[in-house]
Formats: sequence, C-alpha cells, structure tokens
Amino acid sequence: MSHIERNLIAGAWWEGAGSLENRNPSDLDDLIGHYAIASPEEVADACAAAAEAQQQWRYSTPQIRADLLERIAQGIAKRELEIATMLAREEGKVLSEALAETRRAMQIFRFYAGEALRLSGESIASVRPDIDIETRREPIGVVGLITPWNFPIAIPAWKVAPALAYGNSVVLKPAELTPGTAHLLASIIHEAGCPAGVFNLVMGQGASVGAALVDNPHVRGLTFTGSVPTGRRIAQRAAVDMKRVQLEMGGKNPMVILDDADLDVAVEATLNGSFYSTGQRCTASSRLIVQASIHDAFVEVLAKRMASLKVGHALASDSQIGPVVSAEQLAINLRYVELAAAEGCEVVGGERIELGTRGYFQRPALFLGASASMQVSQEEIFGPCASVIRVEDFDEAMLVANGTPFGLSAGICTRSLKYSREFRRQVQSGMVMVNLATAGVDYHVPFGGTKGSSFGPREQGRAAAEFYTLSKTSYQFAG
Ligand code: NAD
Repeated sequence: MSHIERNLIAGAWWEGAGSLENRNPSDLDDLIGHYAIASPEEVADACAAAAEAQQQWRYSTPQIRADLLERIAQGIAKRELEIATMLAREEGKVLSEALAETRRAMQIFRFYAGEALRLSGESIASVRPDIDIETRREPIGVVGLITPWNFPIAIPAWKVAPALAYGNSVVLKPAELTPGTAHLLASIIHEAGCPAGVFNLVMGQGASVGAALVDNPHVRGLTFTGSVPTGRRIAQRAAVDMKRVQLEMGGKNPMVILDDADLDVAVEATLNGSFYSTGQRCTASSRLIVQASIHDAFVEVLAKRMASLKVGHALASDSQIGPVVSAEQLAINLRYVELAAAEGCEVVGGERIELGTRGYFQRPALFLGASASMQVSQEEIFGPCASVIRVEDFDEAMLVANGTPFGLSAGICTRSLKYSREFRRQVQSGMVMVNLATAGVDYHVPFGGTKGSSFGPREQGRAAAEFYTLSKTSYQFAG
C-alpha cells in the first residue's frame, strides 16, 4: 500500500491501526490517499497529551496565542490553492467554492487571533462593604471536536481557532470522508509552532474513534457538527460525565417567496441556497414556500435557470455544481427523488448523470406540488433537492415555515417592510435572511439554530467564548 497520512498526537505523527482510502467523488479512479485510523490507545494518548499540554497553554499570554493563530492564518494563506484543490478533490465542491471556504478558514484564524487579546471579565461592586468582585473567563480544558464532511476546513477552523484562542487544548476528529483537508490543517498548525499536545488530530470512523473521544474522561467539552441522530447520541453519552456540549445539526430551511418579491433576486437567492455546494449545506433552502399569485412565474424562471447549471467535475473551470459526496449520499438523494414522485409531486430534474469520469453526478431537483407534511418536505435530504410548496398568503407561509422540527436558517424574499419585519420576529430559526440565500454567513457574528437544529451556546464571532470558557467569580475583602 502507498504512504499513509498519519495522526498528530503529542506533537508527533502516528501510524494508527489500519487506514481509510480517500477517493475523489468527481472521479473514482483518482485515489487521493490513505489516512490512518487512530487506535483506541492513540485516542486515549491524544486526550492525555492534550490534558498535560493544557496546564501550560492555559497560562500562556494572549500574545502567544494570538501570534500562533496569526501564523496558522498565514500558513493557510500560503497554501490556499493546495488546500482548496484537496477540498475539491475529496468533498466535491467546485474549486471556486473550495477556495472561498479555504479563505474563510484563514479569516477565522485571523479573527480569533484578535479575540485572544480581547477576552475580558467584569469588575462589579459587592452588596457588602469593602469587598471587590471580579469575574473572569477561563478555558474549559480539553475540548473534543467532531466535524462533518461538508465544510472540511471552515468548520474545523471555527472550532479550533476559538478553542486555542481561549486557552483550551484540542483533539480534532474530522469526518471519515474528508481527512485530507483536516490533515493539511493539522500540518499547518504543527508547522506554525503549536506546542506539542495543544492540538491533536485523530482520524477514523465516528462509531469507534469519535465515540472514544466522546467517552474519554480528560475531555471536558465536546463541540459537534453533523446529523441529528449522531448529535443526540453524543449529548446522551456526554451527560453521563457532565461534559459541556455544543451541537450544530441538520436543517430543513424554508425560503418564502412573496408575490411582491423582486423575481430576479428571489431566483438567484434560491438557486444559490438550494443547489450551490450540491445542496450539501446545513443552511440549504430545501423548502421553497411560494405565494400562489407568483408561483407559476417563479417556478418557470427557476426551473429554466436550474436546468442551465453546469454539473461537472469539481476541478473543471466551467463546473457550477460538483458531484454528490459519496455513493451512500447519492443513493439517499435518489431515494428521495423516487419518494417525491410516490408522494404525488411532479419531479423536475434529480436524475443521476454520467460524465467523462466515474463520479456521483446528479442534476438538481425541484419537487413541484409538494405539501408541507410530505416526508420530502419534513426530512433533511442533504442533496440538491427542494420541495416547492404553494401557499395563499403570508400567514400560511409563516405556519409552513415553522412547521418542521428544525430551525437553523430561514429566508424570505419580499419588498414589504411589514412582512420582512414580521418574518424576522416570528420565524423559529437561529438565522434569518431577507432577500438573501439561506446559506452564506459572516464569520464574526453568532451562528446556530433553534429547535432540533442546535443545542448549547452559539458558535463563531464573540459568542464562541460562551462555549469555550467558563466564568469564575472571585471575591476579595480589602479591609
Ligand atoms: P454525521 O453525523 O454522520 O457525522 C458527523 C461527525 O460525527 C463525523 O466526524 C462522524 O465520524 C462523527 N460520528 C458519527 N458517529 C459518531 C459517534 N457515535 N460518536 C462520535 N462521533 C460520531 O454527519 P455528516 O454526514 O458528516 O454531515 C452531514 C450532517 O451535518 C447534516 O445533517 C448537516 O445538516 C449537518 N451539518 C450541520 C451544520 C450546522 O452548523 N448546523 C453544518 C454542517 C453540516
């Protein structure tokens, strides 16, 4: 077998117990490499190393932490094309999107380099005489990071950067489908001079390597992004040891189109939200809730624009939609396409296509005539598929928009101040977009959802400090 890319534990690279093959979903003949699976002992070693290293790292100066994060940002910037190419090869995102995601990761490290300097507490007068009270934020300790395949550098970045900035040490378990990008990030962090044990990488399957991380007694905080069933399992196991947990999970995000919307704005926001990144975004618009009076005009333009999207190899310069990430995900998508027809929808697109290379290519799909209660309108598909649900007015749109167990992102296209205001107030989601795609967020503001989509404090921006630090209140008698 060829060379195996190894896990990073206590500042050294380790072989693991076996390896996973990484293949390009645009071209199955393209073998990206073999990636070591961490053994149970190695996961334990990584957590122990993180615990030991944290004892010093937690007392390092903010300047030391800021400098490290800045060097990591520079390392990413220097190798951005290499990283983006790896990302496009293993995840299937088209190169322009992969580059944008890589740059986002760089910006996130730079942002938290600044935040490391800005962490502050409060000084509060006591209700008793001659006593001073001060609150300060301290690191949690060792944090376990478990990440999905769909943003293989941005999500690790938005977890690693605040964790390190606030004095925690880290064990990262990336998704088994995208170890290559995480491995490159680990090399950059290592080469940037991160002290041994402060950052560790353990690759491999969720059920073994991920579960071992969740159960490890050194780990005091777990931050997870992925599907609802996995998130629920992690929260249950973490509760046994009272570990702090942050979960970002699935979505069934609504995009409401009212009849006073600018049609071009609505179509562009929908195309982007529903189909870019092959619909493999937790914030993708998978329910298009369209007012009856604009329904036919909207669907006609949208279907035409959708049909013109170029599906192709992620590295081809003219591709707009890359492949589905894996055979399993493609099978799920195709099952939902069949289900949509069985539930009575008119299906436009959605078929698997053969191109010049052996890949998992699928045309984007619209499920016309869907009802709000159909399975295809209730369950997260995680592919380039959107239900189109016709409604009479704003009130019905609002009911449908809130009618799923999820609540991550929600969008509305309208020129009405009244309706956009009401939507922002009433919608049950962590993020709201007006005349914008449901996907596509900034990195310096809170990110997260409500209901079944999220659990625990928000990620990103300054809000990240709520998860990665604990508040300590000290009292001092000055008499
Ligand atoms: P997944 O839940 O299958 O896997 C996510 C991670 O959890 C992987 O690293 C996996 O190995 C690990 N894992 C699996 N079983 C585990 C276990 N028993 N113990 C510990 N770890 C385990 O999700 P996925 O297929 O990689 O990603 C797609 C999902 O992620 C979708 O539901 C999507 O909506 C969600 N997602 C959410 C956000 C968000 O911010 N809300 C962002 C991106 C993706």
